[in-house]
Amino acid sequence: MRKSGKKLASVMMAAAMVLSLAACSSQSTTETTPAETATEASKETTAEETTEAETEAPAEENQQADIVVIGGGGAGMTAAIQAVQDGATDVIILEKMAATGGNTTRSTGGLNAAGTSYQEDEEIEDSVELFVEDTMKGGKELNDKELVTVMAENSADAVDWVNEIGGDLSVVGMFGGASVKRIHRPSDTSAVGPMLVKTLNAKVEELGIPVLLETKAEKILTDAEGKVCGVTVTDKDGETYTIDCTAVILATGGFGANSDMVVEYKPDLAGFCTTNHGGATGDGIAMAKELGAAFVDMEQIQTHPTVNPDTQTMYTEGVRGNGAILVNKEGKRFVNELETRDVVSAAILEQTDEVCYLLFDQAVRESLAAIESYIKAGIVTEADTPEELGEAIGVDGAALAETLKTYAGYQAAGKDEEFARESMELPLDKPKYYAALCAPAIHHTMGGVKINTATEVLKEDGSVIPGLFAAGEVTGGVHGGNRLGGNAVTDIVVFGRIAGSSAESYVTSNGGHTEQEIEAEAGSEAAAPAVQGDYKDGTYEGTGKGNNGDITVEVTVEGGNIVSVTLKEHGETPGIYEAAEKGVTEAIITSQTAEVDAVSGATNTSNGIMEAVGAALAEAK
Ligand code: ADP
Repeated sequence: MRKSGKKLASVMMAAAMVLSLAACSSQSTTETTPAETATEASKETTAEETTEAETEAPAEENQQADIVVIGGGGAGMTAAIQAVQDGATDVIILEKMAATGGNTTRSTGGLNAAGTSYQEDEEIEDSVELFVEDTMKGGKELNDKELVTVMAENSADAVDWVNEIGGDLSVVGMFGGASVKRIHRPSDTSAVGPMLVKTLNAKVEELGIPVLLETKAEKILTDAEGKVCGVTVTDKDGETYTIDCTAVILATGGFGANSDMVVEYKPDLAGFCTTNHGGATGDGIAMAKELGAAFVDMEQIQTHPTVNPDTQTMYTEGVRGNGAILVNKEGKRFVNELETRDVVSAAILEQTDEVCYLLFDQAVRESLAAIESYIKAGIVTEADTPEELGEAIGVDGAALAETLKTYAGYQAAGKDEEFARESMELPLDKPKYYAALCAPAIHHTMGGVKINTATEVLKEDGSVIPGLFAAGEVTGGVHGGNRLGGNAVTDIVVFGRIAGSSAESYVTSNGGHTEQEIEAEAGSEAAAPAVQGDYKDGTYEGTGKGNNGDITVEVTVEGGNIVSVTLKEHGETPGIYEAAEKGVTEAIITSQTAEVDAVSGATNTSNGIMEAVGAALAEAK
């Protein structure tokens, strides 16, 4: 990203900004409209008016990017990475919270994929058609079949992509609503979300994609033709400014933490707890609405059946998938535990106090690492016998023992006489025994902005909003009336990747990458010293350690001042070093010292340049 404002003002840069702003005359009204900002910028840089103070602290200049990704969750980070992998050079991620990850971090299950090498290794027969069929059935046939087909077709590639960028999805398991073992999880059977977010964060860092934390997108701006041309944001200091761009990828997630919005679309969920993180407030829905986007299935809000009502901890479906059953306060089973989330949630709400217990034995505990975190959190009761467990949780122990005995019989016979559960992995007869109280809570908002298979955001009339792409929970159509466990992660990786590629293609065919063009116009020599330097005139070379090895720079000193810093040799990643080169070299020239702030998202490269300049200046003292 090119940071143009604050410390780095230059007449040429400002002129370039004004040119670019003129092309983006927003139709929208914002606190600081681009038109106003352009006027400010041009005022500020009138040659005779430019003072030293203004050079140090000019205000109101827009930042620039080719692609702005709104939301640093699974879909947003995936999209940003894919865009850069496709050749994008100027992508930034905006994240309103203090850390990336969003709801993706809380994802416990895994990634559903059909036709993977991992399934093949286990001789699991699956197909794109079967995956589509299961997803449509789970979604009550409300899903957009075209989107579901694209998701299924690209699902095996999604597993490979995650693994290629350093992730670990290599164990295949059974999950609710799937006909075969299809959910891909980390090899240590831990929750998928933390692994995925860690992997994406590392890749974003490696590629040097700037992530602006605690920076909230407020509004997406469009030009007179209705093309996306910028985003208005508010940063952590409460400052509002505009980022000009060619494309926006909306990846703001759902609205499961916005109880007003939930109740607006589904009044019977009033008072429900939520599994969502605090940032899932539907901002993307509101921003897209202002641009005339169409929405689908907004009333389709999923509850997750097994959430601790006190701590809101969600027990992954994997616990049931690996063998656990559900019992009510009378100690009896009441549903096929592997039914879809809507069916299981509805069944729980019919039980005494609208709660139930997740019941399992030592063998299930040992099969799933995620269970250890629930035990550690103190939300699981344990006992040596079913009778003692019943006593500990206030349920008739004899009834509990009878239920387990009957279930073990079904498991041995391979037939669940009562609820037709098909997959019964274990007999649940190995002490200790465990019970965890649970109830349904708001989990996933299946509705959202309408997209086509290229992730372009559509209007009611079917036309696209040029330059606007969306992926992940902010979109609607993929999951229909009920999302299958494991399909959210497939959704964010498959459509996040498509959004990244589509946005990059759009940028290429709509004026190309502005970074290099304006770089060429502005150049680091555009920066002017704000203080007098104290160096010997001459040209010096120095080397420092960057992200991908040594960085060699050439520093020119004239009249005692550093007047230019040129990167001679480096192995830094294209599309990343430019941001560091521009930001750091200009700051060095302005402040006449090698010790300046690193450019966010390109820290290693920035530090390498500073080290190299420091080494060069050692000879100039
Ligand atoms: P998905 O699974 O679709 O990626 P997540 O919930 O994992 O959804 O991620 C969405 C991210 O978007 C969250 O980290 C959330 O804080 C962020 N977000 C939501 N609204 C905004 C906004 N207005 N500006 C910047 N980030 C936002």
